Amino acid sequence: MSRTEFSLLRRRLLGAASVVVVSAPWLAQAAPQGTFIERTLHKPVPGGVAVVDLGELAQAPHVTFNGYRVLVVRDADQRWKAIVGIDLKTAAGRHGLTVQGAQPVSFQVGSKRYREQRITLKNKAHVNPDPQQQARFEREYKEQMDAYASFRPEGPSNVVFDKPVPGRLTSPFGLRRFFNGEERNAHSGLDFAAPTGTAIKVPADGVVTIVADYFFNGKTVFVDHGQGLITMYCHLSAFDVRKGDTVRKGDVLGRSGATGRATGPHLHWNVSLNNARVDPAIFIGAFQP
Ligand code: ZN
Repeated sequence: MSRTEFSLLRRRLLGAASVVVVSAPWLAQAAPQGTFIERTLHKPVPGGVAVVDLGELAQAPHVTFNGYRVLVVRDADQRWKAIVGIDLKTAAGRHGLTVQGAQPVSFQVGSKRYREQRITLKNKAHVNPDPQQQARFEREYKEQMDAYASFRPEGPSNVVFDKPVPGRLTSPFGLRRFFNGEERNAHSGLDFAAPTGTAIKVPADGVVTIVADYFFNGKTVFVDHGQGLITMYCHLSAFDVRKGDTVRKGDVLGRSGATGRATGPHLHWNVSLNNARVDPAIFIGAFQP
């Protein structure tokens, strides 16, 4: 199939119901093991992603993991695949997906060791906020958690991404962080070196669900790509979108900066699936085992 034929086919399929074709068949053919999606995204470790085969059903099955709806796509091999986010706190071992009207499907989670990092912050409030700042943070935290937990039935335009900015990767996902000696949450996203003002591009079509200036995350944008695939962009210097905007892959959502808890200009990027923050490096083909 030529690229033109493929793009026509893709357009036709995208026009029909919620079917998504998210990989390139000419690449999949070259691969002895699995489809393009499986080879790119299947990194079943805590903080990773499991691509779980659900078979050849007439319709997309309704799948949940830990009570949250799971993204289901029709892959290039025409089989339905669950693309499951595995929270960092998930134990290694066997885990099960609940499939409506069918037997549960299990998958194996391996283990992964994450590095540690010690950070000195001059702004002490960003280590131990005062009660007023704490109250502000809790409000903002709830708003973000609600955005991550939402599920829009339309499927994403694509699940393998281009980098949102061209810079090199700096802090990896999952780093255990100690701010002025005190352990805080592990790094929930991936950082890119990006001078202030660098255009940040949306990696897939979506709807902007949050545009806000947060205490820790600074100027922040959330994009809901559909079926629980949600991305977040933090520490921005400027916004190019407003809440409720529909964005297309490649649109500029804002400019990188150093607002909030940041030691210098960079982009902090989160990717979430079924309300689990997972390693964004997986989606751009840069995962390090
Ligand atoms: Zn970060």
